Amino acid sequence: MHFKKTLAVSAAVIGLTFAVGTAEAAQKFITIGTGGVTGVYYPTGQSICRLVNKTRKEHGIRCSAESTGGSVYNINTIRAGELDMGVAQSDWQYHAYNGTSKFEDQGPFKELRAVFSVHAEPVSIVARKDSGIKTVDDLVGKRVNIGNPGSGTEATWNVMWGAMGKTNDDLKLAAQMKSSETPSALCDNKIDAFFWLVGNPSALNKEAATTCDVVFAHTDNAAIAKLVADNPFYRYATIPGGMYNGNPDDITTFGVGATFVSSTKAADDTVYYVVKAVFDNFDQFKKLHPAFGHLKESEMIKDALSAPIHGGAMKYYKERGWM
Ligand code: GLU
Repeated sequence: MHFKKTLAVSAAVIGLTFAVGTAEAAQKFITIGTGGVTGVYYPTGQSICRLVNKTRKEHGIRCSAESTGGSVYNINTIRAGELDMGVAQSDWQYHAYNGTSKFEDQGPFKELRAVFSVHAEPVSIVARKDSGIKTVDDLVGKRVNIGNPGSGTEATWNVMWGAMGKTNDDLKLAAQMKSSETPSALCDNKIDAFFWLVGNPSALNKEAATTCDVVFAHTDNAAIAKLVADNPFYRYATIPGGMYNGNPDDITTFGVGATFVSSTKAADDTVYYVVKAVFDNFDQFKKLHPAFGHLKESEMIKDALSAPIHGGAMKYYKERGWM
């Protein structure tokens, strides 16, 4: 009797272990690399994961978005196989795939894959009003945050500032704080301005504009006109007047596109379900951040993408008759 009971219990325990084991095997974890918590990459990754996790019953994927140093870090970490997907500026997607500019030493990253593009990222130069900075040329001799190492921001700063014939020695201070630290550094008068590429509106720019008196500098000169004319991944852009406190007029600037990337290491099935979660629920996706309000599917599957489209994404786009 006692023996039988023990047996029955063991069988139940074994049964349970087996069931749990199977459920776990079917579950897949993916991590998306983003940017600073008050930027737009972080809420982009979180919004994608939110839709993926909502449809988990269909595919078993558990998605998480991690705050990181930004574009260059995300691309390098995908290359190392330590991130499945990430958000990256279109200029650095281009250069990573082709092994040019900052990626020349590493050589082309031919396994890099584009998934879709997201919002536009115009250059924001946010300056203290009392600094007298009105245009990008006024940054000479000032204390400027140029972006943290690993950010697309810092990499694009070096391209822009170099194209203007300048080095960081032309600044009084070239600070490299991470983005989330820059509004308080600006308002505490530790820097005169910060430079970065980000979607609008961003929580960070709002924080700066509501904490102290700031101006957004116009970012347009002959060197920038040449950069825009010579490179497919740059374009002129506007920061709309009235979007941020104390800045009623449109600001002329240039910028890139934010893109969502992966590599051939990510299984077609996984990328397919991530893309499906976003585009099957597109109206909901667009409501998850104000920078997504004007997104269009037809533009997201082609604009600002230079690496080949991932096979799993392509499968979904073909199913929808988009390609
Ligand atoms: N474009 C920035 C970068 O790659 C990040 C912007 C954001 O966090 O939204 O450095």
